[in-house]
Amino acid sequence: MNVLPSNEPTFRQSVDLMFNRAVALMDLPPGLEEKIRVCNATYTVRFGVRLRGKIETFTGYRSVHSEHMEPVKGGIRYAAAVDQDEVEALAALMTYKCALVEAPFGGSKGGLRIDPTQYEEHELELITRRFAYELCKRDLIHPSQNVPAPDMGTGEREMAWIADQYARMNTTDINARACVTGKPLNAGGIAGRVEATGRGVQYALREFFRHPEDVAKAQLSGGLAGKRVIVQGLGNVGYHAARFLSEEDGARVTGIIERDGALFDPEGLDVEAVKDWMVRHGGLAEYPDATHTRDGGAVLTEDCDILIPAALEGVINLTNAHNVQANLIIEAANGPITAGADDILRSRGTVIIPDLFANAGGVTVSYFEWVKNLSHIRFGRMQRRQEEARHQLVVDELERLDTALGDTWNLDPAFKARYLRGADELELVRSGLDDTMRTAYQSMREIWHGRDDVTDLRTAGFIVAIDRVSKSYKAKGL
Ligand code: NAD
Repeated sequence: MNVLPSNEPTFRQSVDLMFNRAVALMDLPPGLEEKIRVCNATYTVRFGVRLRGKIETFTGYRSVHSEHMEPVKGGIRYAAAVDQDEVEALAALMTYKCALVEAPFGGSKGGLRIDPTQYEEHELELITRRFAYELCKRDLIHPSQNVPAPDMGTGEREMAWIADQYARMNTTDINARACVTGKPLNAGGIAGRVEATGRGVQYALREFFRHPEDVAKAQLSGGLAGKRVIVQGLGNVGYHAARFLSEEDGARVTGIIERDGALFDPEGLDVEAVKDWMVRHGGLAEYPDATHTRDGGAVLTEDCDILIPAALEGVINLTNAHNVQANLIIEAANGPITAGADDILRSRGTVIIPDLFANAGGVTVSYFEWVKNLSHIRFGRMQRRQEEARHQLVVDELERLDTALGDTWNLDPAFKARYLRGADELELVRSGLDDTMRTAYQSMREIWHGRDDVTDLRTAGFIVAIDRVSKSYKAKGL
């Protein structure tokens, strides 16, 4: 729950308004629009855990937005402000996100109202296991019905506890590990899941910059190299996105905004060094190599080429949308732009790469992890050496021809080493993610450019997603 001006809709209403804008341009059978929009069910649980000599009561939610495909999928968030409205909004976004990137899931989301920084690790384990127990009991965590993943405030550690809790309660379920994704590698996880959402943001931007007409709409030109980027939130998603964009694409991260203010340096910040400082000192204040300001909001509206809100919802709203200077915003967080702010930015021509696409890297790699768990084998295990052997054949033949022709040319050793190496799981995961992000962008783009009545990527993304969900419902006879 973000504190918004009173004239702004809630997060869930914002998602619904964006949905409504898209369905108004579609021709759905009567009544189906309402069926897709509404959240099917939200389970609220209050449970007690004995901590520090007394019983503490916690409130958690698991919301199932749409079961047009099962299992349903969506992260579990730990934050002090979690409420039903937020969880339902996030669950709805999961439905549209999964449809857009063709991950065969319905939409769900969970949340626990807790400030995780106030608890010791062993306390968090007790709380997580108890929350998981409540959800497992009702099949709200289940490999074929409802598969959570990490979100704000949770990560591999919590997912490992959840997987273990499910396994203890379902000792004969051979697919137990598929009950949750985002697990550590040694507990059934997949290579590349931790970086996946930030990596997806990078792949989304790379695809955007492959289309000069799209880049021109954001009043930009050229590629990612040298682009000035401001990131809000240096957590899982923001950190990986900022790191990859600066290290691999030559972008310049000029601003980083966190809870305790922001760092700004027009020459570019060292993302790794800032993250390291943040982990050691609990915030950005007093970071020695850049200017720190307590007013993070001011940096959100600083001049830059690409703004990446990667913290929480509602941060660009009616109070500051007019001041945002970036012409390209990529929503790494869920719902960072309210419906009202979206109207303002669209009317000004700002290009927004929407959340349902931009942060879908997480669920995409979660999908790969779930498939890996169900198939009980690591990706690439069967093919890797066979692929290497076939490449060796080609290299041997080229070298034989070279000898026969009098040793006139040589294969570059660096090329040879790269060509001979078979793909491991991480490479396969990245390749699958890249393909997913490119394909999804192209499906949105086709509608964005192909229809006069669609002027933004968000509406285009919703149209693609809603069309797919409606086809699933029709196939089910609804
Ligand atoms: P996280 O908890 O790892 O990181 C969030 C970061 O934002 C933290 O560093 C926190 O200090 C910072 N933050 C919190 N409030 C802030 C504020 N008011 N101003 C500036 N910074 C603030 O969470 P995450 O997993 O990176 O998730 C971030 C966003 O991305 C959320 O909207 C989440 O729903 C979305 N998302 C996450 C994933 C995933 O795989 N983790 C997938 C899809 C979408």
